Amino acid sequence: MINDLASEVRHLSGEAVALCYHCHKCTAGCPVIGAMAYGPDQILRMVAMEQQEPIFSSKDIWLCAGCYTCAARCPNDIDIAAVMDALRQLALSEGYKASEPDVFLFHRLFFGVLGRLGRSHEAIVLGLFKVLSHQPLINDMAAGAGLFLRGKVPLLPNNIRAARPVHRMFEESK
Ligand code: SF4
Ligand code: SF4
Repeated sequence: MINDLASEVRHLSGEAVALCYHCHKCTAGCPVIGAMAYGPDQILRMVAMEQQEPIFSSKDIWLCAGCYTCAARCPNDIDIAAVMDALRQLALSEGYKASEPDVFLFHRLFFGVLGRLGRSHEAIVLGLFKVLSHQPLINDMAAGAGLFLRGKVPLLPNNIRAARPVHRMFEESK
């Protein structure tokens, strides 16, 4: 149990949830609100109210795509994506399992590839994701082929000079 959730969130994200006056603009613009249980403004309210259990077990913190639409709309400049990020970290450190395991798997794969190659590589991330999440490979094949034909998803990753320092940075951050 965290002593003071709002302070811990502030420490990790730099954001003060007390600034929120619940104008609802963030939630109105959130592209994944249809799949969320609470929505970003309610999550901030729950942080202020110390409702740790429902936050940490909610799918909302895992469904947040970090798109920053909410931050761009917030009249108080609250970076809600950073708050969601902090809440994910705290949920894991408190022993909660990700309530959306596929999202957690995607996070791990994305950062795993980034840490190894120094940049993201969509074909590797998505290929591994499909296999490890037991999704039929045939799903999304048409969309994938279209992206490949337009040169948006290269089959092989480019070597980049910064790969080694990026890898070191990931190792040191563990
Ligand atoms: S837009 Fe900002 S102030 Fe308004 S509800 Fe969302 S976080 Fe709170
Ligand atoms: S950053 Fe997350 S909470 Fe904010 S609008 Fe995007 S998906 Fe919704």
